[in-house]
Amino acid sequence: MTNNAVFIAKRVANASVDGWLADHAVVVKDGLIADVTPRASLPGDIADTHDVHDLGDVSLLPGLIDAHSHMHCSATLDAYHLTTTESLQTLVARSAKNIRNVLLSGTTTLRDIGSKNEVAFPIRDAVRSGVIPGPRLLLAGTPITTTAGHCWFFGTEADTEAEVVRAVRNQKKLGAEIIKIMATGGMFTPSANPRTPQYPASTLRAAVVEAERLDMQIVAHTLAAQGVKNCVEAGIHHLIHARWYPADVTQPLDFDRDTVKRLIDNGQWVDPTFGHHLLGKEAVAAGLAPPRVPHPLVAASPITEEDHIARAREMHDMGVRFTTGLDMGMAHADFARSASNSRAFVKHLGFSEWEAIAAATKDTAAALRLDSQIGTLEPGKVADLVSMAGDPAGDIENLERSVDVIQAGTPVKLNGAALV
Ligand SMILES: [Zn+2]
Repeated sequence: MTNNAVFIAKRVANASVDGWLADHAVVVKDGLIADVTPRASLPGDIADTHDVHDLGDVSLLPGLIDAHSHMHCSATLDAYHLTTTESLQTLVARSAKNIRNVLLSGTTTLRDIGSKNEVAFPIRDAVRSGVIPGPRLLLAGTPITTTAGHCWFFGTEADTEAEVVRAVRNQKKLGAEIIKIMATGGMFTPSANPRTPQYPASTLRAAVVEAERLDMQIVAHTLAAQGVKNCVEAGIHHLIHARWYPADVTQPLDFDRDTVKRLIDNGQWVDPTFGHHLLGKEAVAAGLAPPRVPHPLVAASPITEEDHIARAREMHDMGVRFTTGLDMGMAHADFARSASNSRAFVKHLGFSEWEAIAAATKDTAAALRLDSQIGTLEPGKVADLVSMAGDPAGDIENLERSVDVIQAGTPVKLNGAALV
């Protein structure tokens, strides 16, 4: 064994992630990409100095990036019950299983934006020290929420501006790289109202200022139109869901183009979470139970899934930049299914296949401010690679069919067989 390796494939993504290089090789030295070169130009004696892996008729891409998981949630219909009743030890064990599945599916970078501190940080330490397999992890730890607010059962409850600032500082102290705040209530939490803000814009702004002072980005869950407006005004870096529910259950979505224009001008990103919705819909079509009874304040509404999709599509048309983010751990949002983000971008939002592949690699790397390290196959970047059977640029469904996974130059799955 050497520290050097070569991975050869029939199709290799080009540096801009918008086309294939035919019969190319990715040359790896000490975990980093040293070169991407035609197979024919490799030296004849390359096998003397490199481990040579001819992956065959596959499509080789940068490892996928998912910006939204809850590592200790079960992705089953009883996710809420389990998360509120299981012991920390069980949640740690569940997390270890979940993040291994993430890695073996070809997602080599995962941002977890809401899990118990006692689970998330030890899991990251265990991955970094090689105790358990897992993707590169970026962690928020517990989300910041109001008393009895959205996800309070694995959140830090903070109501006033001073409490929120203190909570941001505490997450930093525990090891957070990003901050998650619940700008509105959510479907997962019976005691929270998804249609109304949990914080005024001024409190969100104080959290943004404090997070930036401590060199962190801050992301916010928001389902209400007023929540989106508050997040845009406050300068929240990434808006999660970004739905447009009005406070009044009888009214249609309160979509506001001026707010969207401001969001674009501010350089803010949106994780629309439609991959999760797609998986839920497919599960129901396959005869499984629907994700869960919606929050009563949403179930009473005339607003449909199609209304949400139409608004997200309009946001895409206006120029909003989208990150991936499956909301892994919620019902049917399986940890191995991150590629469903890209499928939803193509099916629902009008992305081309290459745009959807770039969203799951290059674009989300940029949103996470990791584009100098990951997201494309270029010299100097970490050799995180995934191969798919078939051509995902011809049919985005193929993005689900990972065959080989390479983490920093080391294979963790080859020809479908897990090595970790
Ligand atoms: Zn979530």
